[in-house]
Amino acid sequence: MNRPRSVWAAVTICVILAATGITRVFVPTSLSVPASTSSSVPASSRPAHTSPTTTGAGQAKPHRPERYKPGQTVVSLTFDDAYENQWLYSVPLLRSHHMTATYYVITINENEARQCCMSYDQLDALQAEGNDIGGHTITHPNLTTSTRAQARHDVCGGRQDLITNGITDPGSFAYPFGAYDAAAEGVVRQCGYTTARVGGGVSRSNTIPGPPYAETIPPGNPYALTTIAPNGSQPIQLPVMKAFVSAAAANGGGWLVITFHDVCHAKAADFTHCMSEYGSVVDTVFGRFLDWLQSAGQPGGAPSGVLVRNVCQVMNCH
Ligand SMILES: [Zn+2]
Repeated sequence: MNRPRSVWAAVTICVILAATGITRVFVPTSLSVPASTSSSVPASSRPAHTSPTTTGAGQAKPHRPERYKPGQTVVSLTFDDAYENQWLYSVPLLRSHHMTATYYVITINENEARQCCMSYDQLDALQAEGNDIGGHTITHPNLTTSTRAQARHDVCGGRQDLITNGITDPGSFAYPFGAYDAAAEGVVRQCGYTTARVGGGVSRSNTIPGPPYAETIPPGNPYALTTIAPNGSQPIQLPVMKAFVSAAAANGGGWLVITFHDVCHAKAADFTHCMSEYGSVVDTVFGRFLDWLQSAGQPGGAPSGVLVRNVCQVMNCH
């Protein structure tokens, strides 16, 4: 698949940074702090988005805050950079399992209709089905080394691009490279996002689960959601994904936000290249993971009580 190298190089670094699993020093904030007091990109005033109610373990009804039981484990499947292979190979699997996910979009790829990535029409369709379409800036800069003006342009502009192209009230954001600091958080907040994901923080290792095992619900800082990118430098293996979910469930539950990138298909022309990319997952492996999650509490399934929800469902963004 022909990817834009400039963005691609950035993404490669992004994921390496995320792979370190380094827990950054988060600045505690209160959930009661207004999302924005001087936003240049206010939340959309369009009617609230509605999505069809589906059955199964994966889908909650929209606009109805869901209560999670103490000790419950909620898994969020998050996809970075909106690659077309996510649309081709993981979206059908999610649909067949009645599950939704979160997609973080680098809007320059959509604006320029690059082959790497999903179109706005595809993203709009995903949101209409109940998926969470979030921002990942226009050009994927490291916000911790950008000037405030540059950061605002890239973060607010990326959110505005999504709104202009049919995405209703984007609430989720992922920091490019997972790079987070208080200044970046301030920009993301002012641009109208409800929540933002950093790189790492769930465990020191991305192959072996360890404390704290999961994010809390609600998160310690909604603008610094921790995550895990299983395996990291090699294609994601099913036992590793299962291990992280099981470890979270066995250690008090909470919110396990999993980061995915490329989704590879064995018969695709670029399979070998896809598999060489950071944090890739084979579609059949991903499908078996969804089977396991869907069978929570049943023999051979995930631990009892495990749910799959997208980020904005857990955060009640809308
Ligand atoms: Zn990225």
